Amino acid sequence: MKNSYSNIFTFNKKILNKTIKSLKNGDIVGLPTETVYGLGGNAYSKKAVKKIFKLKGRPKLNPLIIHYHSLKDANKDVIMNKYVNQLYKQFCPGPLTFVLKRKKTSKVNQIACANLKTIAIRFPKNKIVRTILKKTGFPLAMPSANKSNNVSPVRSLDVVDEFNKKLKIIIDGGKCKIGIESAVIDLTSHPKILRPGVIDIRVIEKTLKIKLKRNKAIKKILSPGMMKKHYSPGIPVLINQNKHDGKSAYIYIGNK
Ligand code: AMP
Ligand code: MG
Repeated sequence: MKNSYSNIFTFNKKILNKTIKSLKNGDIVGLPTETVYGLGGNAYSKKAVKKIFKLKGRPKLNPLIIHYHSLKDANKDVIMNKYVNQLYKQFCPGPLTFVLKRKKTSKVNQIACANLKTIAIRFPKNKIVRTILKKTGFPLAMPSANKSNNVSPVRSLDVVDEFNKKLKIIIDGGKCKIGIESAVIDLTSHPKILRPGVIDIRVIEKTLKIKLKRNKAIKKILSPGMMKKHYSPGIPVLINQNKHDGKSAYIYIGNK
């Protein structure tokens, strides 16, 4: 069913088939996940991956997270280990991304991984995106559906604001339940958090029964998500202002 925006669709069988067709053709679609809305494209297709970087204006050195339906599907592309098995059982599908070593036989496009020998994988929980992933036969490279450095979208209308008619299909899944990106954990050696998220580090430590390396302890910037400046809202954001000047956004701490 179409609504007043010709590129926002309610999910049904017809739009599922249209979306699969579009993804198979190397096109990019706007999809809801439980974290934020994403820009999804075939992770095995150079054409699709290049389009994602272009649409977002994303620096080539910032790799994309590759989304799968199941651990079995991801096993084609990455080398699994005990840590990923333990965390998968506890938190997946869900808002946790694992960085793992790439298999030599992996078909994930190298540009999507910024030519690294690792791949960041995630299993989103949102039912719409899971239905799509089950049907495609390939994983989806899917960063947040905003231009680089802008705030991540949590409603389909936010995606329209960012890309307007540049996307032919945006599937409406309502407001994202979580609203912030997945936590990213590097499991290629002793586990370390690269980007904190909604899952508490201490809960991860309890599951793995080990202490994790904290971001602060990692001197080298391993990914742009680790930089001090990550989001830039279009207007100033003031903290603890109780009068609103109409030109800025504000965060007020306390009772109002
Ligand atoms: P975004 O797609 O904007 O949510 O950001 C994805 C995050 O995952 C970024 O911080 C990336 O740098 C990080 N990431 C993706 N792939 C890798 C990888 N292979 N190794 C390390 N970090 C990664
Ligand atoms: Mg993002």
